[in-house]
Amino acid sequence: VLAAALVAGLTSCGQEARGGSRYQPDKGKGGTVGIAMPTKSSERWIADGKNMAEQFRKAGYKADLQYGDDKVENQVAQLENMITKGHRLLVVAAIDGSALTHVLTRAAEAHIPVISYDRLILGTENVDYYASFDNERVGELQGQYILDRLGLKKPDADADERHTIELFAGSPDDNNTKYFWNGAMKKLKPYFKTGQLVVRSKQTKMNQATTLRWDGGTAQKRMDDLLSKNYGSTDVDAVLSPYDGISIGIISALKSAGYGTKRHPLPVVTGQDAELASVKSIVAGEQTQTVFKDTRKLAKQAVQMSDAVLTGKKPEVNNTTDYDNGKKIVPAYLLKPVSVDKKNTQLLVDEGYFTKEQLR
Ligand code: BGC
Repeated sequence: VLAAALVAGLTSCGQEARGGSRYQPDKGKGGTVGIAMPTKSSERWIADGKNMAEQFRKAGYKADLQYGDDKVENQVAQLENMITKGHRLLVVAAIDGSALTHVLTRAAEAHIPVISYDRLILGTENVDYYASFDNERVGELQGQYILDRLGLKKPDADADERHTIELFAGSPDDNNTKYFWNGAMKKLKPYFKTGQLVVRSKQTKMNQATTLRWDGGTAQKRMDDLLSKNYGSTDVDAVLSPYDGISIGIISALKSAGYGTKRHPLPVVTGQDAELASVKSIVAGEQTQTVFKDTRKLAKQAVQMSDAVLTGKKPEVNNTTDYDNGKKIVPAYLLKPVSVDKKNTQLLVDEGYFTKEQLR
């Protein structure tokens, strides 16, 4: 009861404090922007943070870049600190999308605007804009890739051919997880219905397939378990993986179970982020696919949005309907993800994301 009262108190206080405008009265360049990133355990977030910090500096701001080490309490403390220091704007890639309500009420009281970066912040009005990729499309690309590789062209209840598949989802506290999952299911579900795709573990619900904090080791353990319990004499033909770090864990489990030889090839394994280790694995013929999201473009978009907010202009958005965080529909700018497999890794070199030498 006390906690509820506290939450109610904070919320109403935040709303009163906001008044007509969420923004600081002094508009213009200068001052410091806070960048709160989730973890350094994945290359993408290191690059996101670095790119944003650089671009903010170029745009005439100082940048305070912090990483939360995947611990919610660290991220909250970092944000509190940024607010106390009077940073002018916060860009946040949440560790737990629902855990920032209190701290963002404080940001609102201090008239500090908030940009939700890549992952939507949930359950608060105190988030102004969202910059991300088309997250459902990411899942669609993964699902469609599996269908293509297994030669599944259209659902056919009379087809004799059966393929086995196991499913992995992202972290349950990341709002993106359900978009990735739903996108993939849109493609795969019709084939579960016809029986052309069979999930032998029967773990077909998202909450049975999640991987806390996107941890590769956790995924590896689950895959070990799935294989030992469900794949004695049968092989698994495909694994839906939502993220490269998870794919690496899955592939390790598969190799321990004897997959990965000429006579016993690895199944189709998807991924996301085009992380160097996974792109190399694709080139080496292990991981099959990843989804490239050019984080340089996302950083640029977020910096442009922030600069517009701080200088009193209207940020560019291209989606004002889909990203409802439970309290408001957050105006968003979504970039396009691209599927990458062995055939088009060159794209990453052409785009300057990696050098040719890195992929050798
Ligand atoms: C991001 C993905 C990333 C995952 C794990 C998600 O929120 O959108 O790009 O693979 O987090 O870091």
